[in-house]
Amino acid sequence: MQICGLMKTTLLDYPGKVASTIFLGGCNMRCVFCHNMNLVTGVNEIPKIPVSDVIDHLNSRIGVIDGVCITGGEPTLHPDLIDLISTIKEMGFLVKLDSNGSKTSVLEELIAKKLVDYIAIDVKASFNKYPVICGLNSGFDSDSQVKSIIKNVRDTIDLLVKHDLINYEFRTTVIREYHDENEFELIGDMLQGASNYYLQGFVKSRFVPETSLNGYSADELRRFVNILAPKIKHVDIRGVD
Ligand code: SF4
Repeated sequence: MQICGLMKTTLLDYPGKVASTIFLGGCNMRCVFCHNMNLVTGVNEIPKIPVSDVIDHLNSRIGVIDGVCITGGEPTLHPDLIDLISTIKEMGFLVKLDSNGSKTSVLEELIAKKLVDYIAIDVKASFNKYPVICGLNSGFDSDSQVKSIIKNVRDTIDLLVKHDLINYEFRTTVIREYHDENEFELIGDMLQGASNYYLQGFVKSRFVPETSLNGYSADELRRFVNILAPKIKHVDIRGVD
């Protein structure tokens, strides 16, 4: 297991909870706006944290933190994820998992075994834009792999919305060059009936793959919320003033 980072205490990563966050390396996407590319393409250069160190830390925080957030990279690519989460649950912590939704079967297993309490799924764009915005056409995925990733994201959305088995949220990092009113009409249709959806402000950075990208203001994001509100139970913005 490639544990590339551990944030010992955070009030931001798990809604309403005090948590520790574990960062797992590696990802099957190459999003144009990714702020964590060191965890995606630079993973071999990052010193790994032994699982035993993470467990020791969590043991020392029993009664102090409420839960553990597991993020990446893409955590569901790790074959040892279920074992790690099982250990964390046995310690009595709540578990939140961040995912790009491309491994539906792993999410199904985690839900069926009651190993996760909250799932946050990135919805990058409408499905037609996934190959471009997620960098799936940049030479590392065949056409059938791209189709399979997009199908799995679609299945993950259905799993969470239709079966409503667990607390969840969808979220989109909103980028001026990729998202507009029409895009949110399409995403609203994709997420019809969902419980929670957040539009996240994009912070311009020279460390993301496409350095020319720009975000929207809070007022502009609120206009998108109005498009989505009739289709989704709770829509809000986050990460912008
Ligand atoms: S899914 Fe995209 S944003 Fe998330 S870690 Fe992978 S490349 Fe980065």
